[in-house]
Amino acid sequence: MGMDTPSPEFRLIQDYFADRQAIPATLSVPIGDDAAVLDWAGERQLVVCTDTLNAGIHFPDHAPASAIGWKALAVNLSDLAAMGAEARYFTLALSLPTADKDWLREFSTGLFSLANEHGVTLIGGDTTRGPLSITITALGAVSPGTAVGRDGAGPGDLIYVSGTLGDAAAALTLGAAPVDEHQQVLFERLYRPRPRLAWGQALAPLASAMIDISDGLAADLGHILARSGVGATVDVDRLPLSPALQAVVEPAAARRLALNGGDDYELCWTMPSAAAPALQQLARDSGMIMTEIGHTEPTPGLRLIDRTGQSIAIEQQGWDHFA
Ligand code: ADP
Ligand code: MG
Repeated sequence: MGMDTPSPEFRLIQDYFADRQAIPATLSVPIGDDAAVLDWAGERQLVVCTDTLNAGIHFPDHAPASAIGWKALAVNLSDLAAMGAEARYFTLALSLPTADKDWLREFSTGLFSLANEHGVTLIGGDTTRGPLSITITALGAVSPGTAVGRDGAGPGDLIYVSGTLGDAAAALTLGAAPVDEHQQVLFERLYRPRPRLAWGQALAPLASAMIDISDGLAADLGHILARSGVGATVDVDRLPLSPALQAVVEPAAARRLALNGGDDYELCWTMPSAAAPALQQLARDSGMIMTEIGHTEPTPGLRLIDRTGQSIAIEQQGWDHFA
Protein backbone atom coordinates (compact mmCIF):
# COMPACT_ATOMS: atom_id res chain seq x y z
CA MET A 1 0.00 0.00 0.00
CA GLY A 2 1.26 3.50 -0.81
CA MET A 3 0.68 6.51 1.43
CA ASP A 4 -1.46 8.14 -1.31
CA THR A 5 -4.16 5.46 -0.86
CA PRO A 6 -6.82 6.92 1.51
CA SER A 7 -7.51 3.58 3.21
CA PRO A 8 -8.28 3.21 6.96
CA GLU A 9 -4.84 1.68 7.46
CA PHE A 10 -3.20 4.69 5.81
CA ARG A 11 -5.32 7.06 7.91
CA LEU A 12 -4.28 5.28 11.07
CA ILE A 13 -0.57 5.55 10.22
CA GLN A 14 -1.01 9.18 9.16
CA ASP A 15 -3.06 10.16 12.23
CA TYR A 16 -0.92 8.53 14.91
CA PHE A 17 2.57 7.82 13.60
CA ALA A 18 3.65 9.81 10.53
CA ASP A 19 4.65 13.50 10.83
CA ARG A 20 4.82 13.32 14.63
CA GLN A 21 8.48 14.26 14.86
CA ALA A 22 10.91 16.63 13.19
CA ILE A 23 12.80 14.96 10.31
CA PRO A 24 16.56 14.90 11.01
CA ALA A 25 18.89 16.13 8.25
CA THR A 26 20.33 12.59 8.00
CA LEU A 27 16.91 11.10 7.09
CA SER A 28 16.37 11.68 3.35
CA VAL A 29 13.26 9.43 2.94
CA PRO A 30 11.03 9.34 6.07
CA ILE A 31 7.77 7.41 6.74
CA GLY A 32 5.55 7.12 3.65
CA ASP A 33 7.64 5.37 1.03
CA ASP A 34 8.44 1.68 0.61
CA ALA A 35 11.46 2.07 2.87
CA ALA A 36 13.32 4.75 4.79
CA VAL A 37 16.66 6.09 3.55
CA LEU A 38 19.18 7.51 5.97
CA ASP A 39 22.82 8.59 6.01
CA TRP A 40 24.96 6.67 8.41
CA ALA A 41 27.53 9.17 9.67
CA GLY A 42 30.93 8.14 8.28
CA GLU A 43 33.00 6.51 10.98
CA ARG A 44 30.26 5.02 13.15
CA GLN A 45 29.15 1.41 13.48
CA LEU A 46 25.45 0.55 13.29
CA VAL A 47 23.96 -1.17 16.38
CA VAL A 48 20.58 -2.90 15.81
CA CYS A 49 18.17 -4.63 18.18
CA THR A 50 14.54 -5.84 18.15
CA ASP A 51 12.11 -6.60 20.97
CA THR A 52 8.44 -7.57 20.99
CA LEU A 53 5.80 -6.87 23.64
CA ASN A 54 2.77 -9.20 23.59
CA ALA A 55 -0.45 -8.42 25.48
CA GLY A 56 -0.95 -10.66 28.51
CA ILE A 57 2.70 -11.81 28.46
CA HIS A 58 4.82 -8.66 28.59
CA PHE A 59 2.21 -6.42 30.16
CA PRO A 60 -1.01 -7.06 32.09
CA ASP A 61 -4.28 -6.49 30.23
CA HIS A 62 -5.04 -3.48 32.44
CA ALA A 63 -1.78 -1.68 31.52
CA PRO A 64 -2.50 1.85 30.23
CA ALA A 65 -1.89 2.31 26.49
CA SER A 66 0.57 5.17 27.13
CA ALA A 67 2.67 2.82 29.28
CA ILE A 68 2.66 0.16 26.56
CA GLY A 69 3.88 2.72 24.00
CA TRP A 70 6.60 3.97 26.32
CA LYS A 71 7.76 0.52 27.35
CA ALA A 72 7.84 -0.97 23.85
CA LEU A 73 10.47 1.62 22.94
CA ALA A 74 12.17 1.65 26.35
CA VAL A 75 13.08 -2.05 26.28
CA ASN A 76 14.81 -1.54 22.93
CA LEU A 77 16.65 1.61 23.98
CA SER A 78 17.78 -0.32 27.05
CA ASP A 79 19.41 -2.91 24.76
CA LEU A 80 21.25 -0.12 22.93
CA ALA A 81 22.29 1.32 26.31
CA ALA A 82 23.76 -2.04 27.32
CA MET A 83 26.00 -1.95 24.24
CA GLY A 84 27.20 1.55 25.13
CA ALA A 85 25.47 2.86 22.01
CA GLU A 86 23.76 6.12 21.19
CA ALA A 87 20.13 5.73 19.99
CA ARG A 88 19.11 7.21 16.62
CA TYR A 89 16.09 5.66 14.85
CA PHE A 90 13.39 3.02 15.27
CA THR A 91 10.71 1.14 13.34
CA LEU A 92 7.34 0.03 14.72
CA ALA A 93 5.45 -3.13 13.70
CA LEU A 94 2.03 -2.96 15.28
CA SER A 95 -0.60 -5.71 15.41
CA LEU A 96 -3.96 -4.38 16.66
CA PRO A 97 -7.24 -6.18 17.40
CA THR A 98 -9.18 -2.99 16.51
CA ALA A 99 -8.38 0.58 15.43
CA ASP A 100 -9.39 2.10 18.78
CA LYS A 101 -8.75 5.86 18.52
CA ASP A 102 -8.44 6.51 22.26
CA TRP A 103 -6.03 3.63 22.64
CA LEU A 104 -3.93 4.77 19.66
CA ARG A 105 -3.80 8.37 20.89
CA GLU A 106 -2.52 7.28 24.31
CA PHE A 107 -0.17 4.64 22.92
CA SER A 108 1.46 7.06 20.49
CA THR A 109 1.71 9.80 23.15
CA GLY A 110 3.63 7.43 25.46
CA LEU A 111 5.80 6.23 22.60
CA PHE A 112 6.75 9.69 21.33
CA SER A 113 7.33 11.17 24.77
CA LEU A 114 10.18 8.69 25.33
CA ALA A 115 11.37 8.97 21.71
CA ASN A 116 11.64 12.75 21.95
CA GLU A 117 13.37 12.59 25.32
CA HIS A 118 16.21 10.66 23.65
CA GLY A 119 16.08 12.23 20.18
CA VAL A 120 15.19 8.99 18.37
CA THR A 121 13.09 9.20 15.21
CA LEU A 122 10.41 6.79 13.96
CA ILE A 123 11.31 5.93 10.35
CA GLY A 124 8.74 3.29 9.38
CA GLY A 125 6.91 0.18 10.37
CA ASP A 126 3.95 -2.02 9.57
CA THR A 127 0.35 -1.99 10.77
CA THR A 128 -1.78 -5.16 10.77
CA ARG A 129 -4.85 -6.60 12.46
CA GLY A 130 -4.30 -9.35 15.04
CA PRO A 131 -3.78 -9.92 18.76
CA LEU A 132 -2.17 -6.86 20.37
CA SER A 133 1.58 -7.07 19.78
CA ILE A 134 4.25 -4.41 19.35
CA THR A 135 7.63 -5.04 17.76
CA ILE A 136 10.20 -2.27 17.69
CA THR A 137 13.56 -2.35 15.98
CA ALA A 138 15.98 0.29 17.23
CA LEU A 139 19.05 1.59 15.39
CA GLY A 140 21.96 3.07 17.28
CA ALA A 141 25.59 4.06 16.74
CA VAL A 142 28.98 3.47 18.34
CA SER A 143 32.53 4.43 17.42
CA PRO A 144 34.17 1.36 15.81
CA GLY A 145 35.28 -1.19 18.39
CA THR A 146 33.71 0.57 21.39
CA ALA A 147 30.50 -1.52 21.75
CA VAL A 148 30.47 -3.44 25.05
CA GLY A 149 29.59 -7.14 24.73
CA ARG A 150 28.66 -9.80 27.27
CA ASP A 151 31.85 -11.74 26.76
CA GLY A 152 34.59 -9.46 28.08
CA ALA A 153 34.54 -10.11 31.85
CA GLY A 154 37.79 -11.41 33.30
CA PRO A 155 38.34 -13.19 36.66
CA GLY A 156 38.65 -10.74 39.54
CA ASP A 157 36.49 -8.03 37.92
CA LEU A 158 34.09 -6.06 40.09
CA ILE A 159 30.35 -6.39 39.38
CA TYR A 160 28.03 -3.37 39.47
CA VAL A 161 24.38 -2.57 38.85
CA SER A 162 22.75 0.79 38.18
CA GLY A 163 19.68 2.14 40.00
CA THR A 164 17.59 -0.16 42.19
CA LEU A 165 16.30 -3.68 41.51
CA GLY A 166 12.99 -5.47 42.03
CA ASP A 167 10.68 -2.45 41.82
CA ALA A 168 8.91 -3.33 38.56
CA ALA A 169 8.50 -6.98 39.54
CA ALA A 170 6.98 -5.89 42.85
CA ALA A 171 4.38 -3.78 41.01
CA LEU A 172 3.31 -6.91 39.11
CA THR A 173 2.43 -8.59 42.42
CA LEU A 174 0.12 -5.68 43.38
CA GLY A 175 -3.38 -4.87 42.13
CA ALA A 176 -4.33 -3.16 38.89
CA ALA A 177 -3.45 0.32 40.13
CA PRO A 178 -1.38 1.85 42.95
CA VAL A 179 -3.14 2.62 46.27
CA ASP A 180 -0.40 4.73 47.94
CA GLU A 181 2.73 6.68 47.01
CA HIS A 182 5.10 3.73 47.50
CA GLN A 183 3.05 1.61 45.11
CA GLN A 184 2.95 4.62 42.77
CA VAL A 185 6.78 4.57 42.59
CA LEU A 186 6.76 0.82 41.86
CA PHE A 187 4.13 1.14 39.10
CA GLU A 188 6.12 3.98 37.54
CA ARG A 189 9.12 1.64 37.41
CA LEU A 190 7.01 -1.09 35.76
CA TYR A 191 5.27 1.16 33.24
CA ARG A 192 7.95 3.77 32.53
CA PRO A 193 11.39 2.18 32.74
CA ARG A 194 14.17 4.70 32.04
CA PRO A 195 16.61 3.30 29.50
CA ARG A 196 20.11 4.10 30.83
CA LEU A 197 21.48 5.41 27.53
CA ALA A 198 23.72 8.17 28.90
CA TRP A 199 25.08 5.89 31.62
CA GLY A 200 25.74 3.09 29.14
CA GLN A 201 27.76 5.41 26.89
CA ALA A 202 29.69 6.81 29.86
CA LEU A 203 30.46 3.29 31.13
CA ALA A 204 31.56 1.89 27.76
CA PRO A 205 35.25 2.89 28.10
CA LEU A 206 35.46 1.29 31.58
CA ALA A 207 33.22 -1.81 31.45
CA SER A 208 34.66 -5.20 30.45
CA ALA A 209 31.14 -6.63 29.88
CA MET A 210 27.64 -5.16 30.14
CA ILE A 211 23.99 -6.30 29.90
CA ASP A 212 20.62 -4.77 30.67
CA ILE A 213 18.54 -6.51 33.33
CA SER A 214 15.31 -7.62 31.71
CA ASP A 215 14.94 -11.21 32.96
CA GLY A 216 16.28 -10.71 36.49
CA LEU A 217 19.80 -10.03 37.80
CA ALA A 218 20.67 -13.69 38.44
CA ALA A 219 19.71 -14.74 34.91
CA ASP A 220 21.22 -11.73 33.13
CA LEU A 221 24.46 -11.69 35.09
CA GLY A 222 24.49 -15.43 34.34
CA HIS A 223 24.63 -14.57 30.61
CA ILE A 224 27.73 -12.41 31.18
CA LEU A 225 29.38 -15.18 33.21
CA ALA A 226 28.61 -17.91 30.67
CA ARG A 227 29.74 -15.83 27.69
CA SER A 228 32.88 -14.64 29.47
CA GLY A 229 33.85 -18.04 30.85
CA VAL A 230 34.01 -16.90 34.48
CA GLY A 231 31.93 -17.33 37.65
CA ALA A 232 30.96 -14.87 40.36
CA THR A 233 30.05 -14.31 43.99
CA VAL A 234 27.34 -11.74 44.71
CA ASP A 235 26.48 -10.42 48.18
CA VAL A 236 22.67 -10.35 48.32
CA ASP A 237 22.76 -7.84 51.19
CA ARG A 238 24.34 -5.33 48.83
CA LEU A 239 21.56 -5.48 46.22
CA PRO A 240 20.21 -1.93 45.84
CA LEU A 241 16.59 -1.81 47.06
CA SER A 242 14.43 1.30 46.81
CA PRO A 243 12.66 2.72 49.87
CA ALA A 244 9.37 2.05 48.03
CA LEU A 245 10.18 -1.64 47.59
CA GLN A 246 11.21 -2.00 51.21
CA ALA A 247 8.00 -0.31 52.34
CA VAL A 248 5.77 -2.59 50.28
CA VAL A 249 7.26 -6.10 50.67
CA GLU A 250 9.07 -8.14 53.35
CA PRO A 251 12.92 -8.19 53.24
CA ALA A 252 13.09 -11.80 51.97
CA ALA A 253 10.61 -11.04 49.18
CA ALA A 254 12.46 -7.83 48.26
CA ARG A 255 15.70 -9.77 47.88
CA ARG A 256 13.97 -12.42 45.74
CA LEU A 257 12.42 -9.76 43.48
CA ALA A 258 15.76 -7.97 43.14
CA LEU A 259 17.51 -11.21 42.16
CA ASN A 260 14.92 -12.86 39.95
CA GLY A 261 12.05 -10.48 39.32
CA GLY A 262 13.13 -8.91 36.05
CA ASP A 263 11.76 -5.95 34.11
CA ASP A 264 14.31 -3.68 35.83
CA TYR A 265 15.97 -2.26 32.69
CA GLU A 266 18.97 -1.31 34.78
CA LEU A 267 22.53 -1.98 33.63
CA CYS A 268 24.76 -4.71 35.07
CA TRP A 269 28.44 -4.48 34.19
CA THR A 270 31.83 -5.87 35.14
CA MET A 271 35.04 -3.87 35.35
CA PRO A 272 38.66 -4.45 36.36
CA SER A 273 39.20 -3.10 39.89
CA ALA A 274 41.90 -0.74 38.55
CA ALA A 275 39.10 1.28 36.90
CA ALA A 276 37.30 1.88 40.23
CA PRO A 277 38.68 5.45 40.76
CA ALA A 278 37.60 6.43 37.22
CA LEU A 279 34.15 4.99 37.93
CA GLN A 280 33.84 6.97 41.19
CA GLN A 281 34.73 10.12 39.26
CA LEU A 282 32.14 9.27 36.61
CA ALA A 283 29.47 8.70 39.27
CA ARG A 284 30.24 12.13 40.78
CA ASP A 285 30.15 13.85 37.38
CA SER A 286 27.05 12.15 35.98
CA GLY A 287 24.95 11.53 39.08
CA MET A 288 24.86 7.89 38.10
CA ILE A 289 23.33 5.68 40.80
CA MET A 290 25.32 2.48 41.10
CA THR A 291 26.24 -0.27 43.54
CA GLU A 292 29.12 -2.75 43.63
CA ILE A 293 27.48 -6.12 44.37
CA GLY A 294 30.28 -8.67 44.01
CA HIS A 295 33.17 -9.91 41.91
CA THR A 296 33.96 -12.47 39.24
CA GLU A 297 36.11 -15.57 39.79
CA PRO A 298 37.72 -18.30 37.68
CA THR A 299 35.27 -20.97 38.97
CA PRO A 300 32.16 -21.04 36.72
CA GLY A 301 28.67 -20.44 38.11
CA LEU A 302 26.98 -17.82 40.29
CA ARG A 303 27.31 -18.03 44.07
CA LEU A 304 25.29 -15.94 46.49
CA ILE A 305 26.40 -14.93 49.98
CA ASP A 306 24.92 -12.68 52.66
CA ARG A 307 26.77 -9.97 54.59
CA THR A 308 28.16 -12.52 57.05
CA GLY A 309 29.68 -14.48 54.16
CA GLN A 310 27.26 -17.38 54.55
CA SER A 311 26.13 -18.95 51.29
CA ILE A 312 22.53 -18.50 50.13
CA ALA A 313 20.63 -20.88 47.83
CA ILE A 314 19.57 -19.59 44.41
CA GLU A 315 15.83 -20.20 44.44
CA GLN A 316 14.88 -19.79 40.82
CA GLN A 317 16.22 -18.51 37.58
CA GLY A 318 14.79 -15.54 35.68
CA TRP A 319 11.98 -15.39 33.19
CA ASP A 320 12.09 -17.84 30.28
CA HIS A 321 9.19 -17.87 27.79
CA PHE A 322 9.56 -21.57 27.04
CA ALA A 323 10.54 -22.92 30.48
P1 ADP B 1 4.04 -1.35 2.23
O1 ADP B 1 2.73 -1.90 1.83
O2 ADP B 1 4.88 -0.82 1.11
O3 ADP B 1 4.78 -2.23 3.21
P2 ADP B 1 2.71 0.12 4.24
O4 ADP B 1 1.38 0.51 3.70
O5 ADP B 1 2.80 -1.03 5.14
O6 ADP B 1 3.72 0.00 3.03
O7 ADP B 1 3.30 1.38 4.98
C1 ADP B 1 3.31 2.64 4.34
C2 ADP B 1 4.34 3.49 5.03
O8 ADP B 1 3.96 3.69 6.38
C3 ADP B 1 5.73 2.88 5.07
O9 ADP B 1 6.65 3.96 4.97
C4 ADP B 1 5.80 2.24 6.41
O10 ADP B 1 7.13 2.17 6.88
C5 ADP B 1 4.97 3.20 7.23
N1 ADP B 1 4.31 2.56 8.40
C6 ADP B 1 3.39 1.56 8.41
N2 ADP B 1 2.97 1.27 9.65
C7 ADP B 1 3.66 2.10 10.47
C8 ADP B 1 3.69 2.31 11.87
N3 ADP B 1 2.94 1.59 12.74
N4 ADP B 1 4.53 3.25 12.35
C9 ADP B 1 5.30 3.97 11.52
N5 ADP B 1 5.31 3.85 10.20
C10 ADP B 1 4.50 2.92 9.66
MG1 MG C 1 3.72 -2.83 5.00
